[in-house]
Amino acid sequence: MIIIMERNSTREQAQRVIDFLEKNGFEVRYNIGEVHTVIDALGDKTTITPGRLAGFDGVKEVKIIREPYRLASRDRKQEDTVIEFQNGVKIGGKNRPVVIAGPCSVEDSYDALLEIARAVKEAGGAFLRGGAFKPRTSPYDFQGYGEKALQYLRQAADETGLLIVSEIMDACDLDLMLDYVDVLQIGARNVQNFRLLHAVGKCNKPVILKRGLASTIREYLLAAEHIMYNGNSNVILCERGIRSFDDDFTRNVMDIASIPVIRKYSHLPIIVDPSHGTGQRYLIEPMAKAGLVVGASGVMIEVHNDPENALSDGKQSLSIPMFKEVMARLNKFIDNLDNI
Ligand code: PEP
Ligand code: MN
Repeated sequence: MIIIMERNSTREQAQRVIDFLEKNGFEVRYNIGEVHTVIDALGDKTTITPGRLAGFDGVKEVKIIREPYRLASRDRKQEDTVIEFQNGVKIGGKNRPVVIAGPCSVEDSYDALLEIARAVKEAGGAFLRGGAFKPRTSPYDFQGYGEKALQYLRQAADETGLLIVSEIMDACDLDLMLDYVDVLQIGARNVQNFRLLHAVGKCNKPVILKRGLASTIREYLLAAEHIMYNGNSNVILCERGIRSFDDDFTRNVMDIASIPVIRKYSHLPIIVDPSHGTGQRYLIEPMAKAGLVVGASGVMIEVHNDPENALSDGKQSLSIPMFKEVMARLNKFIDNLDNI
């Protein structure tokens, strides 16, 4: 860490910082100048975080040299993490990007879910997604069918040979979810729900951790670190767009650059969700392709048997015929990805 003192800070203020660092085992080098004082500290940042030092009087800025996430970092593990499932499906590394698709919410018709699941399987998808517990902005909106939805998902997935992804909103549902799903999803709104991160960290089920609506990349990787620190290293990241000022045309801004950035700084696989990333069904295909070109290990797509009457996210859901067409093109695109 490098600690830069305020221009008018006193020698005593600098000395207090230095004494504190040395007392905590840091190797400290410093230059107390007439105008500028800079302190260079080498040591274990798990004991003293930059935030602790920022609280000292006279400190202007604390710059970090090593990224604060450790288990998630590429420094710690050079090779890409690959998450492998019992049926042989793999996410990450040089494996063919996977497709995760399904309705935003599991609704009240098993037959409709099965029809979607069949389309996902036929199109080469590996995972059926669907919400049982829905994080909704309004309490008046559909909140999800809970366990009944999980039962539908399991049955449809087993009938078609797919794996299941579904969102967990509360740690108290963990045991129930573990009985049904193959991948736990933590949604954008819960990316910093640390108790939930700790709870899923204590099981070994793979987790898709979505980027928060306003997560910086560092905050996002630290959220993944919370899961890994608690023992679960099966974390899959997911770029799903971040909030910005212009939501007239897109629901979120899909941060395509975050994919190669995260791949540079972390060994964890990252997928893209152009449905939530854009909020528009016509943008799903181009943004899925964009994500794949820059290194995404998979795509998550919302598809519904009747988008106009969907209980959530109909506007960004593909109909089944549209999904089939998009997937035909996406599969060809993936076949040629190495030549792009
Ligand atoms: C979802 O996948 O349906 C969802 C709610 O996603 P997000 O958390 O990215 O908004
Ligand atoms: Mn949705």
